[in-house]
Amino acid sequence: MSITMEREGKEVLRRLGQAGYEAYFVGGCVRDKLLGRPLKDIDIATSALPEVVMRLFARTAPTGLQHGTVTVIMERHTFEVTTFRKESEYEQFRRPKEVEFISDLNEDLRRRDFTINAMALDAEGASIDPFGGADDLAAGRIRCVGNPMERFHEDALRMLRGIRFACEYGFELEADTWSGLLQHAPLLVHVAMERVSAELDKMIEGRAPDRAVRLLTESGLPRHFKQPIDWPLSGWERCPEPIERDSLAKIIGPSLRWTALFILMGMDSVRAKEAMKRLKFAGKKSDSILKLLQTNVWMEERLGTVSIPDASADSDKVGFELTAECCVTYGKSVVSDWLSLAAWRTDVLGEDRFIPLIERGREWVKRVPVDQVNELNVSGSELAEELRMKPGPWLGRLLQRLLADTARRRLPNERPALLRQAKLLAKQECD
Ligand code: ATP
Ligand code: MG
Repeated sequence: MSITMEREGKEVLRRLGQAGYEAYFVGGCVRDKLLGRPLKDIDIATSALPEVVMRLFARTAPTGLQHGTVTVIMERHTFEVTTFRKESEYEQFRRPKEVEFISDLNEDLRRRDFTINAMALDAEGASIDPFGGADDLAAGRIRCVGNPMERFHEDALRMLRGIRFACEYGFELEADTWSGLLQHAPLLVHVAMERVSAELDKMIEGRAPDRAVRLLTESGLPRHFKQPIDWPLSGWERCPEPIERDSLAKIIGPSLRWTALFILMGMDSVRAKEAMKRLKFAGKKSDSILKLLQTNVWMEERLGTVSIPDASADSDKVGFELTAECCVTYGKSVVSDWLSLAAWRTDVLGEDRFIPLIERGREWVKRVPVDQVNELNVSGSELAEELRMKPGPWLGRLLQRLLADTARRRLPNERPALLRQAKLLAKQECD
């Protein structure tokens, strides 16, 4: 934990204590502290009502007053301070209909999802652990607080959270928790796709993406998403062999992991696009995954017809040309990412068709001088003027051809040479 974060957090506890209220660190930070993991943030629970918290601290923000949460801004860090609460009656298997502020910490801990998330620490570092969270942490167990059937019925998202925590910490799901999850899997249909997606994303980007896919498959949860997704993850009896041997964990980078998963599921970019739309992926993320999948198909097709000879001057020429063409089509950064994917396919999946590219591809990408028309040292309007022609679709085509030649280093990226070549190409088009 950041030492200043912990120091400032304790200062918040102390000030609340001096004013006569109880206050504790709660939830994820207690769990991570006991595990000796770095803390992302510190959540605080208190018997003080939100208006009192706002009065006691100079700088606050009313983050979620209806839920009892006030953000307290200290010198370097901010803390979400939430009044002890009870969640009565859950609506539609997802959110509590109303929250009731209470004065008892134990009651507040009781509403939390898993025992390892239901512990508190006071300002002196003494822990409050009414549900055996520390024992479960030591035993590597994910166990619901209380009756799993009830807990999953209250909020179906907890089932995905349970799998995520099991994967993140390398824990097992305790038998009753797992069987509650299996029985209540259909309730996931009530949970917003954004929340589902955020959990899946954390699983895929986390420490054990392959195990996450295996547990998702075993649990059947993907069959019950609010928006059904047409992907094998919903129907697999058993994961493909690369996932069985933890292959996804060996590829680094979130977009790359998702791309690798789509490839292992045999999904093309059209199906992947639809899946990501349903999962409400951000446009930027979905675009980068799609570009990678398209680059992958492009390369597979090319390598089906062009073979890069073994180390020789020819291999350099053929490989460089191919790389340059791909860079012009998809961009240098996408091709670089694709090379990581190709290296993964070679090392982890044991495919050999990409070997020449992964050996020298990075060097070839570096040698490609430009990958976009706006990097050319001549603009469309200059070309139109020089050629005395009205701008039109021909201009875009001409620029693309100049780019293709420049990227392959057949043409220097210099104005006179570009203009000369443009004239030649324009003449060819007219003839
Ligand atoms: P991380 O931030 O690493 O995902 P976390 O445990 O801090 O893990 P948060 O979503 O930040 O998870 O929630 C903070 C705490 O709030 C949890 O530790 C848990 O006690 C409680 N909590 C969060 N979501 C739920 C839920 N769906 N049901 C019950 N309790 C929850
Ligand atoms: Mg958290």
